[in-house]
Amino acid sequence: MRIEILDGHRNIGGNKIRVVDSENDAFLLDFGLNFSRWGEFFEEFLNPRTGRILQDLLKLNMVPRLNIYREDLFDGRFEDPVNHSFLFLSHAHADHTGMVGLIDEKIPLLMSKETFAVMSASVNTSNQSVLTQLSGKKRKKASEKDVENGIRPDLTVSVKSKNAEELTRYISFPEKTELDGYRTVEMSALWKDDLFVEPVYHSVIGAAGLVVKVDGFWLAYTGDFRTGPETPEEEKYWLDTLGEKRLSLSLRTSRFFERLKDKRPLVLIVEGTRLAREENVENTEKDVFDNAMKVFKETKKLILVDFPIRHLERLFTFLKVCLENNRKLVLMPKDYAYLIEMERVEPLWKLSEEEKSHIRVYHPGKLTYINLEKEALIRAKSEGILIPPDEINHSPDEYALVSGYWDFPHILDLDEKVLNGAVYIHSTSEAYTEEQEIDARRFMNWLRYFNIKPFGLKERNGSVIFTKEFHASGHVSPKSLEAILNDLKPDYIVPVHTLNPNWFVERWKERVLLDDVIVL
Ligand SMILES: [Zn+2]
Repeated sequence: MRIEILDGHRNIGGNKIRVVDSENDAFLLDFGLNFSRWGEFFEEFLNPRTGRILQDLLKLNMVPRLNIYREDLFDGRFEDPVNHSFLFLSHAHADHTGMVGLIDEKIPLLMSKETFAVMSASVNTSNQSVLTQLSGKKRKKASEKDVENGIRPDLTVSVKSKNAEELTRYISFPEKTELDGYRTVEMSALWKDDLFVEPVYHSVIGAAGLVVKVDGFWLAYTGDFRTGPETPEEEKYWLDTLGEKRLSLSLRTSRFFERLKDKRPLVLIVEGTRLAREENVENTEKDVFDNAMKVFKETKKLILVDFPIRHLERLFTFLKVCLENNRKLVLMPKDYAYLIEMERVEPLWKLSEEEKSHIRVYHPGKLTYINLEKEALIRAKSEGILIPPDEINHSPDEYALVSGYWDFPHILDLDEKVLNGAVYIHSTSEAYTEEQEIDARRFMNWLRYFNIKPFGLKERNGSVIFTKEFHASGHVSPKSLEAILNDLKPDYIVPVHTLNPNWFVERWKERVLLDDVIVL
């Protein structure tokens, strides 16, 4: 077999891996966006050209030269006699799935139902981008009429007419599902030998690893993962405070490795995100819950909470905190869309009646709504949970408003006296890039202007310090990773998604394979 690390090797993010067997049959592991490489050439307002997106990305060497792309976007062929059976998507983070829209729709996407729900909610609550497009209309070559109207003939154009050809993706799940607008493929038909998808615990619900037999040997890919409670006492505490569903979620990683151990894998392709990052806090999601409880208990003012919505687990944390403190969690319509989509695709995460009674949806001062966002707004209205700003102005101590950086203009609907002394909880990651630091300073201006008290970040000498009491890493700690690998004992270890591959070499010497192309 041949393992090709096409991207995401000695950097964090942009995972693109291909495994080819002795008969030239292959599958792909993730097809993410490499943010650091992307940022070298592009930014928010400087992008590849939609009408030549693949040609542009190929010229900048941002996508591999393989025959895996949508025919409506690209009609070239490469010298590469390999048959692609499927693309496994480990989880719905952009650095793992952010370029999936470019992939030939006939190559089945294998993922968990939860991952599909998060991806679908994300795509359908933002402006359509070819990079992340799952379904919809195919693009087409500029027609004679387009050319007459001044379009260059080598571009593709979007098609608006009703009879435009549909982009119908083939998708596959570990369990049977029917979904409108997609063609589902049985998992057993994807590959010539055994394979299974096993969930892991990460900072987005739905994360999973793939375990597959290649040329008679078991190979496993972890995607991104972290560990959950490690002792029976810790487990009991999770169960008592967060409940059974959340405990079970947190134990997914240990179940993954238990099941994998039986297979005695030849190769483990494993992430190593935290091996180079200096971290002094070792928070878990349970600590986030405990710390949030303290803040909620001590305040009688409006609370603003900021967390990555696709995380979903964090949403359940704050919903639980609201339940315990007699507050309603107020979501933006685009956030409510995630709950609706998750309930539709994976009923495991359907809210209980009690939980539901603590959800409200904010009616924002917006003129246009996108797709699923609109559906969420209309549904909230029909359910009688859509609330105007004045409802919050009237009794601010009964609400916690979910409001991140991009939502902040909506707080301008609220009275000054409501905002004065209100609390803001930063429950998301720190600023990693220069732009994010500038954003954080700008955000501080909002808090200072209205005298909102921040938790989880503070200002010192003009810069923003992230204190991280309300955030937990999505990645396994070096200590736990070492214990896991010592226990699993794979014959070969292939580190990806890491800045420090030598950490592996120091421990497991020649069993660690670091080449871009590995032949076994
Ligand atoms: Zn991730």
